[in-house]
Amino acid sequence: MKSYLQLARHEGNNTLFETVEMAILSSLWGVPLHLHAEGLRGTGKTTIMRAARDIFPPITRIKGCLYNCDPEKPHCPFHKAMSPQEIAEIGSEEIPMPFLEISHSAKIGTIVGSIDLAKITDSANPTAAILPGIIPQAHRGVIFIDEINRLADTSPELTDVLLDVMGTKPGRVQIEETGLPVVEIPVQVSVWAASNPDEEPGPLEETRRQLADRFDMVIDMGRTHDPDSIAEILKLNSHVRMYEKEVSQDYKAMHQKARKELQNIAARYTNLDLPDFLRNYIARIYVKYDLESLRAIEAIQHAALLNCALKRRDTVLVSDITKAFPLALRHRVDSEILTRIMNSAPDSSSSAVKVTSPFESAAPAREPSAAAAAAAAAAAAQEPAPAQAKEKSFMSPVLSFLGIKGEKENHS
Ligand SMILES: [Zn+2]
Repeated sequence: MKSYLQLARHEGNNTLFETVEMAILSSLWGVPLHLHAEGLRGTGKTTIMRAARDIFPPITRIKGCLYNCDPEKPHCPFHKAMSPQEIAEIGSEEIPMPFLEISHSAKIGTIVGSIDLAKITDSANPTAAILPGIIPQAHRGVIFIDEINRLADTSPELTDVLLDVMGTKPGRVQIEETGLPVVEIPVQVSVWAASNPDEEPGPLEETRRQLADRFDMVIDMGRTHDPDSIAEILKLNSHVRMYEKEVSQDYKAMHQKARKELQNIAARYTNLDLPDFLRNYIARIYVKYDLESLRAIEAIQHAALLNCALKRRDTVLVSDITKAFPLALRHRVDSEILTRIMNSAPDSSSSAVKVTSPFESAAPAREPSAAAAAAAAAAAAQEPAPAQAKEKSFMSPVLSFLGIKGEKENHS
């Protein structure tokens, strides 16, 4: 299997690379980010999501805790009542950020948790204890589900579990076993899913709308028709043949560099926030277009912050918001509304935006035509045009070191 940095980036899949990087940063901030990649077979959605593990930074947990208790915020049944001294005595350890898959044949007990048979049959000290399932064990990491549309169709039980896990941030799981009290555990898990909307039973947003809405962002995967990108893929593939057995030292070093960089960004931008006029702008879109769920605009706000941080910028721009629109809205509104919302955004590259002051009365009649939109338009007018601002993500130095052209910024 190819490592994350060996995968070719092109205009059809670049958004997925960017969103998984956003989700990793979000995990470091303690906020789960639920992603759903939709696309035809062969667009590489599962490959990219699985390979993203290569750049997962480590997490620190209480030594041996299967629930990945943060030593500073213990949450599991064993550690949550312990004092800091008691926890310090147990010690801590670094483990890779979890990435666990839910297969279609998995039983609910395996996924949520079940009675710990080893403990209950221990003749020296029989105790009734719970063995955490895949979801609680993925705390502070990622659960991956392939073909989510099919799973949601065939397993309503598991769908209910996912609705609980993704319903709030952090989410929760309930472990129920006959003879034991119900155990409810908070879980901070990002759910990453993939599906092919052209295959049975069709798009998730049409079959299980409530579950579809739980995903913060949906990424539409495409192929590339750009000869340069295709040549790039060829080059990467021929280059890779030399390292088929093992990932080279260069790549290992670069994965390490990317992990460190994500940790640095998480620490540096931990207090990044949206300026009020941008928050008002999003709020007005919510009202004007009668968006069904508040999750949509929460996702827009959060995605804008993540995108801004990954570009190592201290100020959130209108372009951070507009980038988030299709990701947060394409599974929530119909395409006509999405187009209207996209068109309502002040175009940062257009000189047509002549507003100089946020509240100038001669503001162009753009939607939503309110002070917030005018302020957003004014801010956009002051944003550097894309041509001058070839923004690079944190991955650029890593990719260019490896001779990968990679990013296609600002093309949309
Ligand atoms: Zn614990």
